[in-house]
Amino acid sequence: MTIRRDTICALASGQPPAAISVIRVSGPETSDIVASRLSVEQLKPRHATLVDLKSESGEQIDSGLATFMPGPASYTGEDTLEISLHGGRMITELALKSVISAGARLAEPGEFTRRAFEAGKLDLTRAEAVADLIDAESEAQLGQALKQMDGALEALYSGWREDLTEALALLEASIDFPDEEDAPETVDAPVLTKLESLQTDLQSALADGNITERIRDGFRIAILGKPNAGKSTLLNQLAKREAAIVTDIPGTTRDVVEVRLTLGGYLVWISDTAGLRETTDLVEAEGVRRALKAGEESDIRIWLHDAREAFQSDQVKPGDLIVSNKSDLVDPESVSRETLSISAKDGFGIDQIEAAIIERLGSLTRNVTAPIITRARHRQGIERALVHIDSALEHLGSSTGAEFVSEDVRLASRELGSLTGHVDPESVLGAVFSSFCIGK
Ligand code: GDP
Repeated sequence: MTIRRDTICALASGQPPAAISVIRVSGPETSDIVASRLSVEQLKPRHATLVDLKSESGEQIDSGLATFMPGPASYTGEDTLEISLHGGRMITELALKSVISAGARLAEPGEFTRRAFEAGKLDLTRAEAVADLIDAESEAQLGQALKQMDGALEALYSGWREDLTEALALLEASIDFPDEEDAPETVDAPVLTKLESLQTDLQSALADGNITERIRDGFRIAILGKPNAGKSTLLNQLAKREAAIVTDIPGTTRDVVEVRLTLGGYLVWISDTAGLRETTDLVEAEGVRRALKAGEESDIRIWLHDAREAFQSDQVKPGDLIVSNKSDLVDPESVSRETLSISAKDGFGIDQIEAAIIERLGSLTRNVTAPIITRARHRQGIERALVHIDSALEHLGSSTGAEFVSEDVRLASRELGSLTGHVDPESVLGAVFSSFCIGK
């Protein structure tokens, strides 16, 4: 692995103007930058010191608190400096200019965390958790990111990989000593047990219904129903803003309109869809097709219908919410107690829908105790590892010989190793860190 030895800097806090701007510097020239740009020769490690920050020509830019963290006991493993200044636009710009003129360069997105990874401070799943901690908008996302930061995913993936290494050791023994009496029959049995149990673990991780990915990326909720049922009005009520156009002209919503919000501590995407009806209009027909697709891909479907009409659909799945709208237009006595009854126009019953959604999200996530697969990258890696494990088991049962099995096991191990970044990191690092913010 190539470790870049230049010094990087970035604004680590939010965009100015703000109360404070934190400028972060990491790399071998950090001490020189302290000596040439601050009003002190040296900083006492891990102590906040009030200093002046100066420009290249020696003029004062601002006063602020500077903290020096010598490597390797720092986030990046390198000498690191953090200066907290007044968060003005000009101060921030001049501060970065001053640090750059002293030998630093602006950091790429996620470069501080990438250096931490390269210094062995965290594995890739923890590095991803850092990004998730910053991006978290719901309590559930935050809770999951914290568990991942704690190493829950690394432990799981590394544990699987250790099992593969043990299986490989047994297989190598049978290849190295083919003439010994007790190889390979006695080797096959423990290898078989290990690989079969791994196959089950990986299969059940993949069969988790994407729940941990959904906690991270947001649950999908689709509002479905006939034109004019009040779907757009309901979406706007849930979003508490005018996200979708409401008219009494049937067929107004032709594409899927999505809003993002947090409900009960979960991030959700609620989509308003084209009304479901037979149509000869090509654009509307495409809208209906997309509506049905959004419904298929959703975790929760809300079937909305006009209270004056009986609800009928053969597409309702268990767990869907059936909601009768426009309750203001009917006699309350005539509404079935089985369905949720609302008036989207007046906002009546919206809190009950929200409560029903939260209850449903609660039951979807009830069995989630630890993060398993929080990103598509993990799912794909586990799927590829499983293909190799399946193939290893097939070869083990045939007369093709142990070499093929070893190769399969090695490939599976490689896939799992790339999830934590312990194997072949270069191919995944760019993709993982490019989604970070600058300064992290
Ligand atoms: P969509 O086609 O299902 O998205 O329906 P819209 O939300 O565009 O609503 C269609 C029409 O029904 C509009 O004129 C709304 O103002 C009206 N509407 C929606 N909800 C209610 C309701 O609860 N009561 C009454 N009386 N009218 C409603």
